[in-house]
Amino acid sequence: MAHVVEDIACTVCGCVCDDLRATVDAGLITAMEPHCPLHAAWFAKHNIAAPMVQATISGKPAAVDVAAAAAAKILREARQPMIYGLSRSSTPGQRAAVRLADKIGAIIDTTASSCHGNSIVALQTVGESTCTLGEVRNRCDLVIYWGANPAVSHPRHMERYSLEPHGQFVPEGRAGRKLVVFDIQENATTEAADDFVRIRPSSDFEVLWALRALVLGVPLRVAEVGGVPVTKLAALAEQMKSCRSGVFFFGRGLSLGRNGHAGVEALLQLTRDLNAHTRFYARRMRIYGDVAGADSVLAWQTGYPFSVNLARGYPRYNPGEYSAEQCLIRGEVDACLLVGSDGLNVLSPQARERLTHIPTIALDYPGADHITADVQFTTAIYGMHRAGTAYRMDEVPIPLRAVVDSPLPSDADVLDQILTAFGT
Ligand code: SF4
Repeated sequence: MAHVVEDIACTVCGCVCDDLRATVDAGLITAMEPHCPLHAAWFAKHNIAAPMVQATISGKPAAVDVAAAAAAKILREARQPMIYGLSRSSTPGQRAAVRLADKIGAIIDTTASSCHGNSIVALQTVGESTCTLGEVRNRCDLVIYWGANPAVSHPRHMERYSLEPHGQFVPEGRAGRKLVVFDIQENATTEAADDFVRIRPSSDFEVLWALRALVLGVPLRVAEVGGVPVTKLAALAEQMKSCRSGVFFFGRGLSLGRNGHAGVEALLQLTRDLNAHTRFYARRMRIYGDVAGADSVLAWQTGYPFSVNLARGYPRYNPGEYSAEQCLIRGEVDACLLVGSDGLNVLSPQARERLTHIPTIALDYPGADHITADVQFTTAIYGMHRAGTAYRMDEVPIPLRAVVDSPLPSDADVLDQILTAFGT
């Protein structure tokens, strides 16, 4: 008999919207509201009946404990194993992954190293003026997206958090807010903007430093910077200084650009400068549903948020050197355990090609098809089959509920079985 489950959190993107309503019938979600194009596509792929086979070894069905023993053997025989992914997992799975990495002396890395790794390095260098999305919703009358296209990547971000909500100090909703978008080309988000500032590709750093100068009252003796007239930049600097509360949401268009960490540093410094005049924040647009949780769990377990090497029995952190991308390209890892293989999407073709030459173990949700691993497990989906916690892009932990029953083990269950099979 069909029934409705309310207040479900979606972990498809970093918004982690927690207002979804599902109709459940015969152990499957048959409808999900409100509509979001991103979660509709994701649910269509992963919301399928649990497969009869929960694990395979070399493509042949195997019991989960037998497959766990095979995975442990691969990891035991490796000189330098790596654990990668984690951004579609949840706190229990991420904790289990760190436990296993610690035991086997692995390099452990998340998708952050290929997305906002530069941003994390920047905020570790100059600090960050942060806020929750609730503060944005209630306070911000100036919203600026920089190198981000949330209309496509986070379809409900503007609806729920930044632009449209009627907030405590912005009771008019959309009419009470200004939206400015900095990008190198028009996109779906620029169409909704009050002001689109087109900048030349790879000139974010120069434009941000010009804005810093103008905010600090330093005159510029040039007519334009990064393709933007200085008169326009001066007007924008005044708009930022005179708003009641403003926020930069920045995406991979800034963090992955040339000298990405320097660009993000400049934006964080501009945010700090603006706080001499008004209240201003900067927040990353996180892509994966629980990549912020992966940062948090790694940081509280090892002291570092990503690219951590535990081979010497203590954590070492060096983005670049210990990132999955570089370790694979340089051929420095000889076995890889993937916790969520859709994290491969952010790696280069060379890094992915290297995976075809080393033993692989993959823990994936039903319907995943990113890799054919030597040892493969199908695991329960957090927020659908299992309870858990996902950290929203503003690092607010959101509880995840089990909406339907599933016989599938969670990734934490499988990782703990591998740990047990690894032995002492
Ligand atoms: S915006 Fe993101 S978190 Fe919200 S419903 Fe869509 S995919 Fe899910």
